[in-house]
Amino acid sequence: MLSSISKVCSTIKKPFEEEGRYMMDKETFRQQGYQIIDWITEYYANIEDLPVMPDILPNAIKAKLADSAPTTAESFGDILQDFEKTILPGMTHWQHPSFFAYFPSNTSPYSLWADVLASSMNAQCMSWITSPAATELEERVMLWLRDLIGLPGSFVGVIQDGASTASLCALLSARERFSNYKINRQGFSDEKFTIYASEQAHSSIDKAVRIAGLGSEYLRKIEVDSDFALIPEKLEQAIKKDIEQGYTPLCVIAAMGTTGSTAIDPIQATGDIAKKYGLWFHIDAAYAGTALLLPEMRWMAKGAEMADSFVFNPHKWMFTNFDCSAYFVKDKDALIRTFAISPEYLKTNADEEVNNYRDWGIPLGRRFRALKLWFVLKGYGVEGIQEKLRGHLKMAQWLRKEIEQHRDFQLLAPTPLNLVCFHFRPKELSDIKTVNRLNKSIMDLLNKSGKIFLTHTSLDGVLTLRMVIAQTDVRQEQVENAWSLLQDQAKKSMEKLREGS
Ligand SMILES: *Cc1c(COP(=O)(O)O)cnc(C)c1O
Repeated sequence: MLSSISKVCSTIKKPFEEEGRYMMDKETFRQQGYQIIDWITEYYANIEDLPVMPDILPNAIKAKLADSAPTTAESFGDILQDFEKTILPGMTHWQHPSFFAYFPSNTSPYSLWADVLASSMNAQCMSWITSPAATELEERVMLWLRDLIGLPGSFVGVIQDGASTASLCALLSARERFSNYKINRQGFSDEKFTIYASEQAHSSIDKAVRIAGLGSEYLRKIEVDSDFALIPEKLEQAIKKDIEQGYTPLCVIAAMGTTGSTAIDPIQATGDIAKKYGLWFHIDAAYAGTALLLPEMRWMAKGAEMADSFVFNPHKWMFTNFDCSAYFVKDKDALIRTFAISPEYLKTNADEEVNNYRDWGIPLGRRFRALKLWFVLKGYGVEGIQEKLRGHLKMAQWLRKEIEQHRDFQLLAPTPLNLVCFHFRPKELSDIKTVNRLNKSIMDLLNKSGKIFLTHTSLDGVLTLRMVIAQTDVRQEQVENAWSLLQDQAKKSMEKLREGS
């Protein structure tokens, strides 16, 4: 890849040498653009030859970087070559088809092209007037998405940078609605709000509780069942106890697909309790929400119509570039009253008739993110997206079965979607600490090999290997390869352990 790029790059002269001023002419611009497209094309075509994760020591890349910024301009060819030499070896390749770690951040050509177009215009889409098409497209595609995932027409949507931000917006809106918008004006006085989420809730909920000034001591972590889903009875008990002790239950957050194991909290039962006690009901479906594009997966969302707010991330599993988080709310007035600030210099004649998305969240400035959603939906069509999702689910279920049937591997959580949670545990090993250490070492060695990348979590104190099958174009072949690498490494590590003891 390097040699083909370098050849063409060396023919490019510095763009402004002749001009004597720092402005790029049209032909140079075009040439550089072609260079980049060529580079990306080769990158994707050869991505499987690259290690999924670099095997390098901390600070190794930093050591290769100059101590200070360049004073004089470098040629574009030199910049690209330096990128290949210095930066590329330190990248983790999230689009590698053998990337099975965390949750994915998958993308697609449609999303990428849309992001290039959006970057080229680089509109700052804070208000309708600052780019009417961006605002109106966002409004429209969010309604498309709402309908596609089966949320009722009482919801409207807005794109946020991440689920963390969206959940913070939910907590802040709840706080303001419940305090009659007083805390925005006067700060906290003697409110004693409590918040509820399961023990398996994402860390962004803890963070949001802190940032919203609610205090992490007042976040009640509700016990989960053997499937790692919230136990509604425990939730109700906690709410009752807090009321008796003079607290005001403010908000309950249900996870539709936890990060640890994609456990699905009982949405209907949680919603019923939220309604009974008058709490704001937020659903964090950051990863799994994409599956709702499949009618056969809608069972997960039964009761979601009761929610006050709902978030899922097209930037995880819906082939849309990071960042793009879809946040839906029922009471958009509460959201806007929480965030709207209209200084004179931002007022326009259209304010009564249009959405100004700067008032629907935290940052003032916003990128044109709706464009990539629009391109993805048009490029694949709903059917195309559904087909890809079904493929991912099917491959994950294949892997689940293989693990289930293997004598020495064990599933550690249900597999409602495409995340498989498991460990290697031959019968002869009884001590869980040894099992955990063994599995950690299997994972580290596999990741170090660069052939695949997987990560772990802890479930009930058991080190759990996680494999997510959701890379845009991942094929059965790569999943089978990963499974065979896992078995080989497990066997080797076990032999080593036997020798050692
Ligand atoms: C990934 C994830 C988040 C955080 O999403 P960001 O967009 O990175 O903020 C929150 N909740 C769950 C369940 C997640 O899986």
